Amino acid sequence: MTNKRRVIIFDTTLRDGEQSPGASMNLSEKLEIAQALVDLGVDVIEAGFPIASPGDFEAVRQIAQVVRGSTICGLARCNDKDIDRAWEALKAAPAPRIHVFLATSAIHREFKLKMTKEEIIERAVSGVKRAAGYCDDIEFSPEDAARTEPDFLCAVVEAAINAGATTVNIPDTVGYATPAHMGKVIRTLRDRVPNIDKAVISIHCHNDLGLAVANSLSAVESGAGQIECTINGIGERAGNCSLEEVVMALRTRGDFYDADTRIQTERLVPTSRLVSNVTGMLVQRNKAIVGRNAFAHEAGIHQDGMLKERTTYEIMRPEDVGFTQTDLVLGKHSGRAALADRAKALGYHLTGEQLQTVFEQFKLLADKKKEIYDADVAALIDQEIHDIAEQWSLESYHVSCGTGGKPTVKLSLRRGDQAITQELTCGDGPVDAIFLAIEKITGVEVVCRDFRVQAVTVGKDAQGEVNVEIEHQGQLYRGRGISTDSVEASAKAFLNAINRVAIRKGKPLHPQHSAVDGV
Ligand SMILES: [Zn+2]
Repeated sequence: MTNKRRVIIFDTTLRDGEQSPGASMNLSEKLEIAQALVDLGVDVIEAGFPIASPGDFEAVRQIAQVVRGSTICGLARCNDKDIDRAWEALKAAPAPRIHVFLATSAIHREFKLKMTKEEIIERAVSGVKRAAGYCDDIEFSPEDAARTEPDFLCAVVEAAINAGATTVNIPDTVGYATPAHMGKVIRTLRDRVPNIDKAVISIHCHNDLGLAVANSLSAVESGAGQIECTINGIGERAGNCSLEEVVMALRTRGDFYDADTRIQTERLVPTSRLVSNVTGMLVQRNKAIVGRNAFAHEAGIHQDGMLKERTTYEIMRPEDVGFTQTDLVLGKHSGRAALADRAKALGYHLTGEQLQTVFEQFKLLADKKKEIYDADVAALIDQEIHDIAEQWSLESYHVSCGTGGKPTVKLSLRRGDQAITQELTCGDGPVDAIFLAIEKITGVEVVCRDFRVQAVTVGKDAQGEVNVEIEHQGQLYRGRGISTDSVEASAKAFLNAINRVAIRKGKPLHPQHSAVDGV
């Protein structure tokens, strides 16, 4: 790399991303994603909001303990309890960062906080100081900065830097900014805050107007040195700035921005797939960079140009972002070493025990399916990661059904060493009957909000992937199941979602962070 300015990539998939409805992840899933983010070359990982729930605390604590290679950050509101709790979770990390936030816009001051401007500055200063007593790396966010009066924003930022903030993050919490506006906000800070060179200016954009990436780029052009973003752009409402898009814009247009990141771009597609599989939030086909069609040239005129000279219609190469040219095929005779090799190339870090389980599943699959593609391997591993916290698992099912009559289902589920069988005649079709039987056995009643079946790979013997979204007591949960038998995949997906409900039960709910809680 030349002497281009390096922009810090701050990933908040595990914090802001996880706040999108139904995207909650369990501990092992969070650890897997954190590890993938390190491999991707992310500088800072925001691992969670430790005071939000015991689960959040534990995830941040474990990531701080085991993940090496990136700064680990935890979010806290501007009060002693939050900050102390964040530090408690972060202290084992070699490079910890505490991120404190406080709303500064008039509407938040008046209606949410009921505090004057002076009180806001006082609170911000005391919060930053308390955090700075724990570690050197402190980020401060004036929440809803994009709607804060410029004079007051400058005053708050100056006071936070004086108190010890090393990064000042400018959140467009509600996705209100436009590129020219955001560029102006950053330039104002650079021109008018006397100590601004003592901190890195960061940008945090939401995508309500579809402008999060554009606004972030505009901020970088005006001097921001850190971008906050998420994989696949997941996040509340329309989501956050998408990491893969903003990184590839900087890489592809380095000539214009004279800036770059240390992201290993060939890890973008594997990381995107991992996050999509774990959260159940599918990536749209035409999504820039990581969508299935992002590099597909269907139009004849484009194909002709492409064959003569790729760069006529291609500004990036698919392999630059991690689309592999050849999907390596494994089969019945592939050994454990070959599987381990593919798993590694796909970005997974499996323990010996996990590899053994995946290998056993792989052998079973190889009996049913001649050629096993990368996507099949990824699906098997994701299933394994999902299954760790599983309470209920599928033992067997039998359904008989046909046109005109109600299906009869005999379903056996296992929990620990207890197996329960239920026989029912109910529902409308085999999938509905199985779902009802699962509800009956587990005692968890839900409303099914979404149900999708798709093929993992190509061919008649391809594995079916089922994604379901269910609602239980006002909360959304997603589940995913894979099998060469699509009815069995449906049962697994539904159970996966039910297990998430079961894990959550008896624990305090993740607070519903709305636009006014979190940056
Ligand atoms: Zn946010």
